[in-house]
Amino acid sequence: MNHSFIEVKADSHFPIQNLPYGVFQPKNGGSPRVGVAIGDFVLDLSVIEDAGLLNIPELQGKEVFKQSILNAFMKTNRKVWSAVRTSLQNLLSSDEPTLRDNSTLRDQAFYQQKDVEMLLPVEIGDYTDFYASKEHAINVGIMFRGKENALMPNWLNLPVGYHGRASSIVLSGTDIRRPLGQMKTPESDTPIFGPSLRFDFELEMGWFIGPGNNLGKSIPVDEAEDHIFGLVLVNDWSARDIQSWEYQPLGPFLGKNFATSISPWVVPLEALEPFRVDGPKPEMEQLPYLQQSGKGSFDIQLEVHLRGEKMDSPERICQSNFRHLYWSMAQQIAHHTVGGCNLRTGDLLASGTISGSTPESRGSLLELTWGGSEPIQMNNGEQRNWLENGDELTLTAWCQGDGYRIGFGEVTGCVLPALEYSKV
Ligand code: MN
Repeated sequence: MNHSFIEVKADSHFPIQNLPYGVFQPKNGGSPRVGVAIGDFVLDLSVIEDAGLLNIPELQGKEVFKQSILNAFMKTNRKVWSAVRTSLQNLLSSDEPTLRDNSTLRDQAFYQQKDVEMLLPVEIGDYTDFYASKEHAINVGIMFRGKENALMPNWLNLPVGYHGRASSIVLSGTDIRRPLGQMKTPESDTPIFGPSLRFDFELEMGWFIGPGNNLGKSIPVDEAEDHIFGLVLVNDWSARDIQSWEYQPLGPFLGKNFATSISPWVVPLEALEPFRVDGPKPEMEQLPYLQQSGKGSFDIQLEVHLRGEKMDSPERICQSNFRHLYWSMAQQIAHHTVGGCNLRTGDLLASGTISGSTPESRGSLLELTWGGSEPIQMNNGEQRNWLENGDELTLTAWCQGDGYRIGFGEVTGCVLPALEYSKV
């Protein structure tokens, strides 16, 4: 693989092998437009498109990069995405003079990342959250229902999920207000109302749907990846006390729907190809519509860092890996659509909390502190059972290549106190 004429450090998340898409607005003015991240810079694709440097027949006259959302570009297809990516890799290559030696064009096309504001990159129509980590499902099952009933009888047969809420998906950096709600403690006979006392995060990854499928027509598991435009980090903020009181029999509702954060850069599925691996071996025969040929997972390292108001620097509280997921993205898409449900361009599907088999790979405080009973010890002497007001939580992820990283940047959010309320 070649190098870029833009300097990229070995631990940068954004080498020429990555080129994730985002929507940005220059801080010194101008409308939102599409760019790719390269090193510490953003390449403005609307400028590249205007200069006639892309030459993709399918995109001619469509101005897909002069828009405030990625949906028009996502709606095309894998072949077009790949052609754009190849074209950009050529343009950014150290051997290619077109952009490298044109200082006027370079001045127009590159921004320092610190000089732009990132925006929510996709208009998200629908959001579905799965429950694809077996370790997470078992841990939560033990705490909510006891060891005997930890894994529900359906879990190994199908990717469990629920339809989430797209309206409250926010971009990294957005403050998250502790939700108010109804909950019931074991000590009291009646439910109480107030700020959630068991406020938590969930370490997840999500993927955006490119071209969708027609209502009534399912997506076969081996064609499912053609529908994946790219991946982002997802923090599915969760109020455990609200959740555990409300969730039966229909699943999560207000314990989840107040906010979900995503990272700003959408990493193309193609950039992850060198890191493709087998997921865990199926523990029982799967129905044919879920049987995927080839390797369905990716080796993506995941970390969670917490910084309290009184802490000098963030501390890592979790280390996990995307490859732990029992159900693959393709299997989740195949299952989602098998009854005829149509996915649409811009839909977000998320994995569910990604926990591994070791204690440090548990992807939520619920699991890390075992329901709040085994607090995490921070370096400055503080403890955490659950998130406290002022806590800043950051999720990050990358694939480690030979001398380079395909990174996802980060998704971060700070916990604000709950709103004042009065009894009606
Ligand atoms: Mn979740």
